[in-house]
Amino acid sequence: MGGTQSEHKLINADGRTRYDGRKFDELRPLSIQAGVLKRADGSAYVEWGSNKVLAAVYGPREVHPRHMQNSARAIVQARYNMAAFSVGERKRPGPDRRSVEISKIISEAFTSVVFVEQFPRTTVDVYMEVLQADAGTRCAGLTAASVALADAGIPMRDLLPSVASGKVEGVVVCDLNKDEDTCGEADVPCAILPRTGEFLLLQMDGHLTYDELMQAMEYNRRACKIINEVQKEALRKKYSIITLENNVMKEEKPAEGRPEDRDQIGRPPESRLEPAQQGGA
Ligand code: ADP
Repeated sequence: MGGTQSEHKLINADGRTRYDGRKFDELRPLSIQAGVLKRADGSAYVEWGSNKVLAAVYGPREVHPRHMQNSARAIVQARYNMAAFSVGERKRPGPDRRSVEISKIISEAFTSVVFVEQFPRTTVDVYMEVLQADAGTRCAGLTAASVALADAGIPMRDLLPSVASGKVEGVVVCDLNKDEDTCGEADVPCAILPRTGEFLLLQMDGHLTYDELMQAMEYNRRACKIINEVQKEALRKKYSIITLENNVMKEEKPAEGRPEDRDQIGRPPESRLEPAQQGGA
């Protein structure tokens, strides 16, 4: 983000699409896999556009050092890390100001989601490793970590989907990629609790008018509903029960709606993207 000049136009001459072919309100292809690591209590892997992010959860477990314990509730300690090979130029390994900030906001978002009062004196550790970065990695990390927390069986109010909309060449667009993030005029990452619509993360970098901010929030709200369906489907896929009926394998999905109404990843019709938007999701 920061209005750097792009090598090419980011908004196509038709005034309706972006240079990667997406519509203004369209997400990049998203896929989520739950339970990918054997030794973590819960885990998830997200591919989102060119982003690749792994999340692992440990806990609840006793807090050490003990002076960090909270006698009334669990603490949630998130650690966001970008691998040295995740970006074009090798990133210096280890924490920096950016990763400390992202870890802090993600810890705070999850502290509002997990039923922390149920586990006093404990910690829930959430690790996010960005293996390949292409903008929106804090949102991809949050989205993956939320599935990893559910996979670990941590009681939560809901899953937490996250996405960043922003402004590119004067147009508000959903789910910025790296070029749009670097050369665009604004970036608004959000995490929205699907059940209540509460914003548990809201950041803004750059300049937007009030109407543009409302448009970005609306895109984020709609996108979070779709992302939430993909999160739920990842968990369904891992936890659906296989039964034998007349010696034929039958998958029992605890899904709402008639199975014939659902698309190939099990999303109900109302959450489906336009065909052009479906990508790898
Ligand atoms: P987010 O990844 O959540 O959008 P930023 O807006 O801070 O977070 O970063 C946008 C993108 O810039 C990242 O996804 C990554 O591709 C790139 N980036 C961030 N930090 C670095 C870094 N230290 N070196 C190289 N590229 C980086």
